[in-house]
Amino acid sequence: MTDTGLSDSGPASEMTADLDTIVSLAKRRGFVFPSAEIYGGFAASYDYGPLGVEMRRNIRESWWRWMVQGRDDVVGIEAAIISNPRIWVASGHVENFTDPLVECTNCQARLRADHVEDNTCPSCGAVGKFTAPRKFNMMLSTIVGPVADESGRAFLRPETAQGMFVNFDNVQTAMRKRLPFGIAQIGKSFRNEITVKQFIFRTREFEQMEMEYFCHPEQSMELHTYWKKERLRWHYSLGIRPQHLRLRDHAPEELSHYSRGTSDVEVHYPWGWGELEGIAHRGDYDLTQHSTHSGKKLTYFDPDTNQHIVPHVIEPAVGVDRVLLTLLFDAYAEEEVEGEKRVVLRLAPAIAPVTVAVLPLSKKIEPKAREVFDSLRPHFRAQYDDSQSIGRRYRRQDEIGTPLCVTVDFETENDGAVTIRERDSMQQVRVPLTDLVTAIHERLDSLTPRIPTHDEISI
Ligand code: ATP
Repeated sequence: MTDTGLSDSGPASEMTADLDTIVSLAKRRGFVFPSAEIYGGFAASYDYGPLGVEMRRNIRESWWRWMVQGRDDVVGIEAAIISNPRIWVASGHVENFTDPLVECTNCQARLRADHVEDNTCPSCGAVGKFTAPRKFNMMLSTIVGPVADESGRAFLRPETAQGMFVNFDNVQTAMRKRLPFGIAQIGKSFRNEITVKQFIFRTREFEQMEMEYFCHPEQSMELHTYWKKERLRWHYSLGIRPQHLRLRDHAPEELSHYSRGTSDVEVHYPWGWGELEGIAHRGDYDLTQHSTHSGKKLTYFDPDTNQHIVPHVIEPAVGVDRVLLTLLFDAYAEEEVEGEKRVVLRLAPAIAPVTVAVLPLSKKIEPKAREVFDSLRPHFRAQYDDSQSIGRRYRRQDEIGTPLCVTVDFETENDGAVTIRERDSMQQVRVPLTDLVTAIHERLDSLTPRIPTHDEISI
């Protein structure tokens, strides 16, 4: 377990909201809906609503900028979700991607053995009624092609990582990359999870953001440390408070079949610490396996030593859905303002679904307010909101995490100015329309989290 060493990290603190509060807010405000709700839903499937979709785009965008566009040494790919099933034999998933499954002989509930507490069935309460654990493979499969027999059996990828390994040679050749370099990908993955609970924390369809960083074996330990810090910095850049995060090294018996060492970035969720991201040292496992199974050489020619080597790999892997859930928990706050409860999501400006809301004080001034709205749209994720009282509209924008509201009033026509209201301080300031875009940028900058340097993080 590692204290990140940041001066404001302090002891781990509880999230303000419980799970029910977040699930209810997410549905009420259009972040996340239960999938197929009109048909009674579908276990652990969720649909993202208009605000959830914007937030997901912002999360992906932030990750891609941080991991790919902002660096010289990482490039991106998008591999197929359904591909040659031999990939999953070589990767070890057919053999090893299993969870221990137990069944309650009293109510037939099937559960992950390591999720059962005190030998008690969470469905019926029976104690000690479980079958012996058996291996359950978590890959979802389908039949590809017109003949419905086993020859067409293929898998929906359970991780995006293998797409990077099987394309190692293509990318290296096409992009003329020298070690160390990374290949990154964002995309859907599928796992037939046995126990799915805690909302979007664990689902059977989810989206991953993964990067495989290929390096010289002797540099790999140093680079593992580098990526742990670098990934923590990204989480801080999203505004996640240090006291809600920790880094935990896996014990030897916990390590996946491919791993030489894994550290998880964990979050203090209301139900306890849980994994947000895994940062694994995969050694040369994957390239060696794919080389053996495909018969193709997957090596790197080192021009300095004139030798072919199999690079080692450091892999940071995180889920879009888990980041979104973490941000909702972390950002949620309740305050009392003038005797009433105010719910506010303190999301960082880069992540908030709406950056600026334009609110006309009355419907009578719609033309001027629309003009202001249109002037902001090219610059920010703007929303126009003219329903209900101004107080209710402020509360609604607070609850969805909009950092700034711009209020257009009866004076605007005369003085050419509007009021900017800040979500966190609720302070209001009058700004001339001619300076509005600059003034908004300045305020958004001041609300943007400070990112610690590598030296400020001790792990
Ligand atoms: P867990 O122990 O929670 O099952 P894992 O260690 O199997 O996760 P990895 O294979 O390391 O997960 O996947 C990397 C990341 O992908 C996780 O840290 C998480 O953010 C995300 N992820 C994995 N499985 C799921 C899932 N079923 N639902 C949502 N996100 C997931």
